[in-house]
Amino acid sequence: MNTADTIYALASGAAQAGIAVLRISGEDAGRVVREIAGPLPEPRRASLRSLRDEDGRTLDRGLVLWFAAPHSYTGEDLGELHVHGGSAVLAAIEARLRALGARPAGAGEFTRRAFLRGRIDLVEAEGIADLIAAETEEQRRQAIEQAEGALSRVYAAWAERLRRLLARAEAAVDFPDEAGDEDLATTIGAPANALADEMQTHLAAGVRPERLRSGVTVCVTGAPNVGKSSLVNRLAGGDISIVSAEPGTTRDPIETRIVLGGVAVTLIDTAGLREAVDEIEAEGVRRARARADTADLVLEVVAGPGERPPSPANVLRVVNKIDLGVDAEGRGLGVSARTGAGLADLRNALEKRVRAVAARAPSPVMTNARHRACIEDARSHLREAADAAAAELRGEELRLAMRAIGRLTGKVGVEDLLDTIFSSFCIGK
Ligand code: GDP
Repeated sequence: MNTADTIYALASGAAQAGIAVLRISGEDAGRVVREIAGPLPEPRRASLRSLRDEDGRTLDRGLVLWFAAPHSYTGEDLGELHVHGGSAVLAAIEARLRALGARPAGAGEFTRRAFLRGRIDLVEAEGIADLIAAETEEQRRQAIEQAEGALSRVYAAWAERLRRLLARAEAAVDFPDEAGDEDLATTIGAPANALADEMQTHLAAGVRPERLRSGVTVCVTGAPNVGKSSLVNRLAGGDISIVSAEPGTTRDPIETRIVLGGVAVTLIDTAGLREAVDEIEAEGVRRARARADTADLVLEVVAGPGERPPSPANVLRVVNKIDLGVDAEGRGLGVSARTGAGLADLRNALEKRVRAVAARAPSPVMTNARHRACIEDARSHLREAADAAAAELRGEELRLAMRAIGRLTGKVGVEDLLDTIFSSFCIGK
């Protein structure tokens, strides 16, 4: 991807719409916008213009915005054309942009340029990707916080403290007579351990909110034919699982995504956990057991009479088919997937449990596995630095900790990562 090119993309979605936004960024963006829309508008002021082809004929009329470098999203000269969202309009204007020398942007190329020009760091760029992908209110809140730099500020402060410790270690190497081992334990060892402790706390606080991205898993278990599939369908409001009167119809764990209380929830409808009658079913049962073991919550469905031992804390017991006179008294939440009785209560109870699992830790929190790996790396080098005997070794470990934080924010050694990170963006961002 040549960063000297002037690029353009449809920033609004591909679907037909009243208004579509085309963004043009790069050294040559000013010339391109002038050729198509006349003199550049005052920066950051919308101006209504006719957009013209090379013979001066009007292609469309729309608002034009101009952002002069470096005060733009990409940090480059950047223009926006707000045009009518029809496919012929877009085709004509995009053809004109290409004729003027702009090329279509790749996925995430605008944000990548913002990163390369130092407008944002890698953590903020990932926050923007998360924000675009956010499906729930909790995910949105987390992502906007990250995109606005709440996490980056924490990491920048860590990097600054590491820099100071490293300076002390280097001074101790250069002037060995001035600092004794005890001094180094005080001036480097103790603060290194304190910083490692803070990272540890940050990592621990990040455990739960990682769920905000991945969601909470709820495994639906119970004997064949108790109505598991029917209940999942009811909760999801559609026909996802196969419902049948024949035991064992739901062979694979079938996953259904719903949103409860702002949290993404994956319902796993298991095959009847019972003696499997054939091989395919056995595989379904095996997988269901594995998923049930690791699920955040279990929705246990029973439908017949009988005593049940009390459930563990992560299990919500439901007694289905109360329309057939099944007695739920003291055994669980009575519902009927057939008539819908008790389903609002079930929804509420489930929502409460789900929200407790996904409870927000104090902000800002880390939700990204890549960040976790970098921070764990930095923390372990800090511990080594704190325990090392020689000043040289302390210095080396501190440098490695700095590198880990540098990789986290994108300051060092991330070229190989950029393609992976930015390709997850959509075109036009
Ligand atoms: P699963 O094997 O646990 O997934 O059970 P299904 O959802 O496939 O349901 C098995 C049978 O019980 C189907 O014939 C459903 O129509 C029926 N069923 C499910 N829920 C209820 C209910 O609340 N009341 C009644 N009367 N029948 C139900």
